[in-house]
Amino acid sequence: PSPTRYAVIGNPVAHSKSPAIHAAFAAQTAQAMTYERLLAPLGGFADTLHQFITDGAHGANVTVPFKLDAFALATTLTARAQAAGAVNTLRFDSTGILGDNTDGIGLVTDIVVNAGVSLRGKRILLLGAGGAARGCLLPLLEQQPAQLVIANRSADKAVALAAQFASHGAIVAQTFDALDGVFDVVINATAASLNDELPPISGTLFGPQTLAYDMMYGVQPTIFLRFAAEQGAATRDGLGMLVEQAAEAFLVWRGVRPQTGTVLAHLTDVLRNPSRT
Ligand code: NDP
Repeated sequence: PSPTRYAVIGNPVAHSKSPAIHAAFAAQTAQAMTYERLLAPLGGFADTLHQFITDGAHGANVTVPFKLDAFALATTLTARAQAAGAVNTLRFDSTGILGDNTDGIGLVTDIVVNAGVSLRGKRILLLGAGGAARGCLLPLLEQQPAQLVIANRSADKAVALAAQFASHGAIVAQTFDALDGVFDVVINATAASLNDELPPISGTLFGPQTLAYDMMYGVQPTIFLRFAAEQGAATRDGLGMLVEQAAEAFLVWRGVRPQTGTVLAHLTDVLRNPSRT
């Protein structure tokens, strides 16, 4: 049989690491599949997706800026996609288009399993209220933290999310000014790092036992991680989240969850040492 066909659809998509990650997963689990990059024009996600399905594809990952379009086009949504209000994983079959969201479980797996930091009973601060933050709220609350504080530049968005998820656990919205005390885990889910900006937070939120996590990743530590390290916090970037969300998507498509350790170690090495690819 011809190999099953997958892709990551985004704009831009040229720098996506997902093809390399899924190629490694496929080799490791001996799955016959291909995984390509698909650049969809802005406003053209639906056409690109439907052509891909017509061409015989089996599934796709969806990245910036199409996660809301994917949510709207899915004919069935998983509970975690519904809670996130966004879709990063699609599976096609004769019954339609399944929409799932694996970003949040990817984050939680990276923190709890890879970094070995339990979230149960902890005080967590989540910065940001965009798509990435929203996708993480349910998986974070399922870990039963003592308190999850959400803070966002546009404060009303944080208030709305805290109200929406109130029945799932101890979540409260606060303005940046009102943040107080040391947190066990501080997660930066804002896009501020993209512009080398720091969310307006005080160094007093971090202590030596704090894990500072930035969903963004790159060659250099972000300004947020540098700031947290100066306060003595442990730091971690979003590369592990990327690999773990991919492993969860692979499970949705292929029914097998690949081992992520060697793939994450290799990607980290390549990212830190760009000359060695
Ligand atoms: P969105 O555009 O949906 O949300 C952006 C968020 O950042 C909003 O809360 C916005 O606040 C806030 N923000 C933007 N600029 C600033 C600033 N200068 N100061 C303070 N807050 C700011 O983006 P996403 O949620 O999709 O993505 C957020 C980040 O997460 C990105 O860096 C992305 O790369 C990363 N990400 C990483 C993943 C991974 O696998 N590692 C997966 C998904 C995302 P406001 O509401 O006030 O505008």
